[in-house]
Amino acid sequence: MIRNPVPWPDGARCAVCFTFDMDAESILKLAHPQRAHSMVSTASMLRYGPDVAVPRILDSYRHYGIRQTFFVPAWCAERYPRAVEAMIHEGHEVSAHGYVHEHPNELSDEDERRWLQRSLSALRAVSGEPAAGWRAPLYNFSHRSAELLLEAGVQYDASLMGDDVPYLLHTPRGRLLELPSHWAMDDWPPFMHSIDLNFQMPIQSPAGAWSTWWDEFEAMWEFGGLWIPVWHPFLSGRLARWRMSHTMIGRMLDRGGVWFAPMRDIAAHIKRCIDDGSWSPRIESQPHGPE
Ligand SMILES: [Zn+2]
Repeated sequence: MIRNPVPWPDGARCAVCFTFDMDAESILKLAHPQRAHSMVSTASMLRYGPDVAVPRILDSYRHYGIRQTFFVPAWCAERYPRAVEAMIHEGHEVSAHGYVHEHPNELSDEDERRWLQRSLSALRAVSGEPAAGWRAPLYNFSHRSAELLLEAGVQYDASLMGDDVPYLLHTPRGRLLELPSHWAMDDWPPFMHSIDLNFQMPIQSPAGAWSTWWDEFEAMWEFGGLWIPVWHPFLSGRLARWRMSHTMIGRMLDRGGVWFAPMRDIAAHIKRCIDDGSWSPRIESQPHGPE
């Protein structure tokens, strides 16, 4: 069903990377610049991410011996350096996710470039290494983003939804690797509910949410795809939800044929496959011209 399934390492059936976007209070600060400081309960919900959930998530990854990827707004890295240092110390990837979760497609040309550069340099100052990848806050990738990311030396993007397997964004400046996901893999629809953040959903049980994610996993496993959940520590790192995810990681490992890797390793593998001719990606022009 996938026209160009990827030859994953060691004959694996699919690649898996749990990606956590550690947004913490950046989203509250962005939505309510004047009032965020007085929205104490919502702030506490968001701070649960770096303070409680990240150590828990790292414990599970250590238990199973897997390394994964965190996308962190640089403002959050500056505010929660210990969480970022723990991710790096344990061999996980920390990649970029804006400065204070600003939306690139709502910025001017000059502002998008300036905020991208600021987010990359400020994140690097905390993590100690350049970010290999980027996810646009709230998937708000602009018509300029691919070229700006190439200009900044970013290796891959993880904001788009255009395929089941990696693909290339062709721009006048060169080609950027896209590692796609989609909304069904995001934990906001099943778990997010916040009146202050204007997002109200009927909250699902962990099993209900996992039923969708497991269906996606089965399909990717069968056809050679890429399974990338887009999760948030303050949502999926909550106790009952992460307890279930801990169990499900074990189930995936027991199934076999699953390559768990940080996004930067998946990107490096894909680039090797393209270079040695063992795999050909679909190529999409970016930006798309007028219809
Ligand atoms: Zn985010």
